[in-house]
Amino acid sequence: MEVLYSSTRNKNLTVKASEAILKGLSDDGGLFVPNQIPALDKSLKELSAMNYKEVAYEVMKLFLTDFTETELKTCIERAYDEKFDTEVIAPLVEAAGAYYLELFHGSTIAFKDMALSILPHLLITSAKKNNIKNEIVILTATSGDTGKAALAGFAGVEGTKIIVFYPKNGVSPIQEKQMVTQKGANTFVVGIHGNFDDAQTGVKKIFSDKDMAKEMDEKGFQFSSANSINIGRLVPQICYYVYAYSKLLAEGKITEGEKINVVVPTGNFGNILAAFYAKNMGLPIDKLICASNDNKVLYDFFQTGVYDRNREFVLTTSPSMDILISSNLERLIYRIAGNDADKNKELMSALSGQGKYEITADMKALLADFYGNYASEAETAAIIKKIYEDCGYVIDTHTAVAAAVYDKYVKDSKDQTKTVIASTASPFKFTRSVMNAIDAKYDQMGDFELVDELSKIANVEVPNAIEEIRTAPVVHDNQCDVDQMQNVVRGFLGI
Ligand SMILES: *Cc1c(COP(=O)(O)O)cnc(C)c1O
Repeated sequence: MEVLYSSTRNKNLTVKASEAILKGLSDDGGLFVPNQIPALDKSLKELSAMNYKEVAYEVMKLFLTDFTETELKTCIERAYDEKFDTEVIAPLVEAAGAYYLELFHGSTIAFKDMALSILPHLLITSAKKNNIKNEIVILTATSGDTGKAALAGFAGVEGTKIIVFYPKNGVSPIQEKQMVTQKGANTFVVGIHGNFDDAQTGVKKIFSDKDMAKEMDEKGFQFSSANSINIGRLVPQICYYVYAYSKLLAEGKITEGEKINVVVPTGNFGNILAAFYAKNMGLPIDKLICASNDNKVLYDFFQTGVYDRNREFVLTTSPSMDILISSNLERLIYRIAGNDADKNKELMSALSGQGKYEITADMKALLADFYGNYASEAETAAIIKKIYEDCGYVIDTHTAVAAAVYDKYVKDSKDQTKTVIASTASPFKFTRSVMNAIDAKYDQMGDFELVDELSKIANVEVPNAIEEIRTAPVVHDNQCDVDQMQNVVRGFLGI
């Protein structure tokens, strides 16, 4: 059955999957949502015999219904290849009473690679299908990980250019180094004087500027988004939840149909929304545990039904989750409003106007599958140390937020359901915070000395992504104020 996509702010605006991928964001500022969540059409048992790419095809074919089998399989083949350091793509590691789904084996060692390694191929295919002649300009705001993963995905891809904005003082040194050393004439990286929300708001503004879009079109360009609002990112993320379940089943850890819980360290709400969609496809997931850091706007939302971004923005050791406006939440709001675009629009304009909104009691009742909690900086550090000392497994700071929240959940609920924790980054990406959590003595060491020390204590080889940047020259050295973002884009495109 064909799945079409409509805007969360205008139900009558409907497009095919390929068009939704090309546009990224709907013209009315809304996000594209599927008009139905398709059910898995293979049994869990059948899925359990499949490898990652096969599972990915089974999931993606149900959502991207205007792609042919060959098109989709080609995209999958090109994405999940040697860029990943394991053929398994997403290994499931049992440690400390949970299953860690390692989503960080791609080229930039964070989970964004899972989707951003396939998005360029989905996009190019979509452009061909829709007879697009313009060059596609990817515009991205990043809290650290998206930027590099998008740069790596798009660098050198013909017919595309990519511009990445990141908060100059809001990413880890390794994240910054990864971005500013990115090669490829079609790449452009800019540090903005502001935080991630400023970057994201600035990008959204450029996207919705109709005059600029017209001017771009005249010059042979059009924008698209690699941000997690693009359904071309969301759909590939559903695959690894189905894959994780199928592996638990294949390994006899669960019986067919047994429910599992999923814990997701959350920022923009894309990853956990993918888990929610997987559940709605029929994957036996019970609780969706949403883990936040000190920027606990989502925890407060699940507690009270009030989403309120009016608060201090806290810089934490899990910077990819330092977010006060979780863009993808809009898709969930739309849904619990009964797919009511007008109601959703009203709430979203309250968010952009007053910085907050409150959902109705009926809507809140539909959030029962979600459990939200948060971990402080001290709790995050403590769990890294504890899991390392108990079982020698070293997790990164984002994954640690999830692990600490999972601990709280089990204490609160006594729930013994088997649980998958989305492990969203390699500890090598946040080496200093991770090593400091294990022992304060490490703070004396230099960044790369720490990398080698981590490799030793965790007994894990230094990932390629880190080896590469040890010596790579800085090729991007651009900064700008928030109100200059549009001019910077014009400059790079020469318009
Ligand atoms: C992006 C990111 C997150 C947050 O994921 P969302 O889909 O934005 O909720 C968590 N951890 C890491 C390491 C990330 O890069």
